[in-house]
Amino acid sequence: MTKWVYGFGGGSAEGNAGDRNLLGGKGANLAEMCSLGLPVPPGFTITTAVCSWYYANDRSYPAELDAQVAAALDRVGEITGRRFGDPERLLLVSVRSGARASMPGMMDTVLNLGLNDRTVAALARDSGDERFAYDSYRRFIQMYSDVVLGVAHEHFEEILEDEKARRGHDLDTDLSAAEWQEIIALYKAKVEEELGAPFPQEPQEQLWGAIGAVFSSWMTPRAVTYRRLHDIPEDWGTAVNVQAMVFGNMGESSATGVAFTRNPSTGEKKLYGEFLVNAQGEDVVAGIRTPQNLTEEARIEAGSDKPSMEKAMPEAFAAFVEIADRLERHYRDMQDMEFTIERGRLWMLQTRSGKRTAKAALKIAVEMVAEGLIGKEEAVLRVDPASLDQLLHPTIDPKASRDVIGVGLPASPGAATGEIVFTSDEAEEMRAQNRKAILVRVETSPEDIHGMHAAEGILTTRGGMTSHAAVVARGMGKPCVSGAGSLRVDYKAGTLTALGRTFRRGEVITIDGATGQVLKGAVPMLQPELSGDFAAIMEWADETRRMKVRTNAETPADARMARSFGAEGIGLCRTEHMFFDDERIVAVREMILSDVEKDRRAALAKLLPMQRGDFRELFEIMAGLPVTIRLLDPPLHEFLPKTEGEIAEVAAAMGVSADRLRQRTEALHEFNPMLGHRGCRLAVSYPEIAEMQARAIFEAAVEAGRSTGSPVVPEIMVPLVGIMKELDFVKARIDAVAQAVMKESGTTIDYMVGTMIELPRAAIRADAIAASAEFFSFGTNDLTQTTFGISRDDASSFLETYRQKGIIERDPFVTLDVEGVGELVRIAADKGRAARPGIKLGICGEHGGDPASIAFCEEVGLDYVSCSPFRVPIARLAAAQAAARRR
Ligand code: ADP
Ligand code: MG
Ligand code: MG
Repeated sequence: MTKWVYGFGGGSAEGNAGDRNLLGGKGANLAEMCSLGLPVPPGFTITTAVCSWYYANDRSYPAELDAQVAAALDRVGEITGRRFGDPERLLLVSVRSGARASMPGMMDTVLNLGLNDRTVAALARDSGDERFAYDSYRRFIQMYSDVVLGVAHEHFEEILEDEKARRGHDLDTDLSAAEWQEIIALYKAKVEEELGAPFPQEPQEQLWGAIGAVFSSWMTPRAVTYRRLHDIPEDWGTAVNVQAMVFGNMGESSATGVAFTRNPSTGEKKLYGEFLVNAQGEDVVAGIRTPQNLTEEARIEAGSDKPSMEKAMPEAFAAFVEIADRLERHYRDMQDMEFTIERGRLWMLQTRSGKRTAKAALKIAVEMVAEGLIGKEEAVLRVDPASLDQLLHPTIDPKASRDVIGVGLPASPGAATGEIVFTSDEAEEMRAQNRKAILVRVETSPEDIHGMHAAEGILTTRGGMTSHAAVVARGMGKPCVSGAGSLRVDYKAGTLTALGRTFRRGEVITIDGATGQVLKGAVPMLQPELSGDFAAIMEWADETRRMKVRTNAETPADARMARSFGAEGIGLCRTEHMFFDDERIVAVREMILSDVEKDRRAALAKLLPMQRGDFRELFEIMAGLPVTIRLLDPPLHEFLPKTEGEIAEVAAAMGVSADRLRQRTEALHEFNPMLGHRGCRLAVSYPEIAEMQARAIFEAAVEAGRSTGSPVVPEIMVPLVGIMKELDFVKARIDAVAQAVMKESGTTIDYMVGTMIELPRAAIRADAIAASAEFFSFGTNDLTQTTFGISRDDASSFLETYRQKGIIERDPFVTLDVEGVGELVRIAADKGRAARPGIKLGICGEHGGDPASIAFCEEVGLDYVSCSPFRVPIARLAAAQAAARRR
């Protein structure tokens, strides 16, 4: 027979902390605490398997459940010397939900279950405290009606406020037993009015009502949304915990509280938390009364005149400190605990590993190593790589003066400065011109993803912390201020208005994602630094990881930043970004628009020294570390002049008519540029472009080798190869240039020629391609596009629908699609290694900075991952965790 119910209490338990999947986090830890001999009110857990059964069977229960619950309730009765529903020996319970991962959106806990018009008198008699008994009963009616019967709590709050006002009371605790009784009558009348049926009096009915409500709450829209945002699978299900009540509202020697063993925002090793005298559970967080500090130290620091728990209840406090310490040592992690004191006696109601900021996570991990609680590798595993994002953005210099034009919500960390743009297309154009933009929208939608990518930061005037802008920006690691309601956006006029001040498109503003402020102009920033606990964890991560971590960078500023974050070279230098520079773009356009090779070569000759200078600087910054440079990749029309002014400028430089130029521009038009004349196809059509770039690279390598004293080994990457002969063709040109430069400079140059694997054909033919390619770099952005046949720029409108309809779980452009795209990576890696043992393998798509994708790269045995500079520490940590988990 399946065991659906697990009991705990009286010094032992049927489950333990390891049964989290079956018992949920709360149930598993309650069981564990019981087995440790800690004071836990007895109870039982109905497993997550019942939840699955419930949904698989039309919201019904397995046949054996009834008897198992009855037996478990009897056992709780034996331990407590009471009986559920028996007014002579009254047993009251709480019904608590508890999924594997703690999950807001689930049913709220129901306390004091089992009370009715009869048993409330028994409670009064047993406790000798009528006021307490009726207070508990009204709490129960209120909670049960709200969370189980769906009668909104506002109804009850209204009644309570009216009655308090009528009687001249300020606090709930001022009400007498008789007054509560009158309020209870009003509550019950309200329920009957709302539901057309009386409040359920029968304890069994109450119990099963609450159990059903917990299971049903698994599918509420709130819970479903939360799971989707946090990648929690639907089939996990929730458990239900039923537990004997202990009472924090039994007068002045009773209390309830929450505590962390260490400070969850700073990580400081000090008991941190709050408690409330003569109160029950949710009162602490409800904010009706101000909670008191736990320790004297915290009380003094907070300047509070209300006694601390240390002072007010010294014995319970001492017991709690001992238990907190013991739990932390037992779980070897910072604990987040809930407790209640009933007439001086301490009861533990929950413990779990506490949520913490990135800063606290680093500090706690480092200090626990020093305390001998965990080892270094475990410390590395304790920090969520994605959370480091909080620490990796520029922040506004605290000394800077701020001209605040508006304030919104601090939706995504970091500060950013840029020119105001109002559309995503404008943001993209700015990015193409190497200019920084702040995307300002009333709100964003999935159509804005490309603009959000291109912008430095995002500002919206509508929407909260979970608005589209906020969620997407956090995912991208972009600073974002959302819901700045005092600002007005006028798309038509192209203005942003703030309290009488008007800012136009192109004016510079700064947003501060840490405070939500919007500031006028550019503001001095501090660059993030790797120091202290952060540096220590990174050092241990480096000891643990196998894969190297490089960066995607083409500007000296990015390259330097990445080096300071520990990048071990450049995995992708996109040369086209260098072409957009104001001084160069005219020469680039001349090159593209001339229809004879001679003219193209003349234009290229102007570009050569500039490219050489760029590469030399990058080589010098990377001082001997590997640098992979990709030859020109995008379709040429991206560089073409668009405005009449630009056309006239280029026409003049080339000495041809504007009309002639326009014709040539039209000839370059493509229907589907992403699959058009780009990548190595350009080098095949115009080998002189690849030759110029190769020359710039080799000459820069010679110069940088001399200036730094460490030889530079450039890795030249040919993009978008699908056919072996494409690579052979381009490689022959590169080799010829290498020979020429070596002869001219009288030095030998070590270099590698390889390719990006970004087409399915390249992956499948990787063995043939590896005959010429000395390295592969997986360009998983394009490989995802070409494998799915989905354009990333157009996908946002339907990918979200796919996710909602359960067709895909995650955006494959964010987390590598292991089954499809990953399979191609695996095939290419295997074939490449078979054809050329030891072939260097890396990844340079966006996925190179995504922890889940990095774990896959480790599994396939890639040599390195490459990601944007700010993600380098995240990748170092994720690579270390991936290596540690595979041991
Ligand atoms: P959440 O998951 O929202 O924290 P819990 O199930 O932990 O919900 O319950 C919230 C609070 O209710 C607890 O912190 C505790 O104060 C109170 N509570 C729950 N069960 C009991 C109980 N058996 N006796 C006394 N108080 C309880
Ligand atoms: Mg809780
Ligand atoms: Mg590509």
